[in-house]
Amino acid sequence: MTPDAIWWRQPSFPGRTTFGCCCARPVPPTTDSWGFYLEVDLLGGNGDDCRIEFESLQKLPVLRLYDSDWRPSKPIPLRRTRMAIRQVVEMRIAYEDLATVLPKEKAALLRGENARPWVRIRAWTWNAQRERRVDFGPTVASFRIVETPYALDPALPDRPDSPVQLGLPVRGQWLVVQGAFGSFSHQNVWAYDLVQLDATGHQSWPPESRQNDAYHGWGQPVYSPIEGRVLMARGQMADQSGKQTDRRQAVPNQVYIASPNGFNLDLVHLQQDSVSVRTGERVSAGRQVGLVGNSGSSAGPHLHVAAWQGRFPRKTVPQAWTNVRVGLNPGRNDPWARDLSEWEPREGFFVETVQTTGQP
Ligand SMILES: [Zn+2]
Repeated sequence: MTPDAIWWRQPSFPGRTTFGCCCARPVPPTTDSWGFYLEVDLLGGNGDDCRIEFESLQKLPVLRLYDSDWRPSKPIPLRRTRMAIRQVVEMRIAYEDLATVLPKEKAALLRGENARPWVRIRAWTWNAQRERRVDFGPTVASFRIVETPYALDPALPDRPDSPVQLGLPVRGQWLVVQGAFGSFSHQNVWAYDLVQLDATGHQSWPPESRQNDAYHGWGQPVYSPIEGRVLMARGQMADQSGKQTDRRQAVPNQVYIASPNGFNLDLVHLQQDSVSVRTGERVSAGRQVGLVGNSGSSAGPHLHVAAWQGRFPRKTVPQAWTNVRVGLNPGRNDPWARDLSEWEPREGFFVETVQTTGQP
């Protein structure tokens, strides 16, 4: 069978209208006052590429493409795409439609040699009466049908060094929100940013909050995944507030640990006054060193993990995380979850430790 569409299915609609905390009684959306939106990461690498919009007065769903600054294109009707809204929302996004509206080089990536076998979709509903979002569907990694099977993990940049092995420095499930050579702040560095999401795919509730304590990852303990000596520990710097970054406050709290295996590990953006180790101290693997924070050049609470080698010039080296469950969806029932004894992190995947042997 020739694949001709991306299928996507949202299990509940309109769904939770009482999500979050609000004083007023929520009004459920009606068929003449809602819009339904899918933020779609079709191609990977730069976050969401497009939005599919279906509003109650429209006959056809439309697609808008977004550039890297999230500037929208004109709405383009998806003529062959079909949507069914009953107890579930089911959408069949035709490749033909996408091929017509995407720039040529992007359309080629959908089905070409290096196509990813999955697409990430975030859904939400807008109630026009109340002028607010009323429903957030789960983050869904939808199947993309491709002619030949491709590896789930995309290829990594060329690496002269073999990766250093270490466990995760945090407990619970985290998203690699930016991977090595990421387009935001990891250009040309082997570093990984971890955030925690809820089942709706948001880092904070309410979304994009300016309050650090609204973030699910904020204040989670950070452990040293290795034994070693603390080369540097700093903890007095103030945190940024939520998504607001004050670049003048660019010095982060961090713990920098020398491993006997020939690399140094940097755990960065820790919460002010949370750092619980001192420069020069020896730490054992599993020792708590601080809490996830938002200090330094940081756009929201997260943990930046980087391993370094050499003194001058010193350079980042790739990492492999050991004993991890790796998946594409938040929560427990991810059909894509894999238990791996070793995994080189990729952006967009969820990860957690699965075998604990006294270490986090
Ligand atoms: Zn980072």
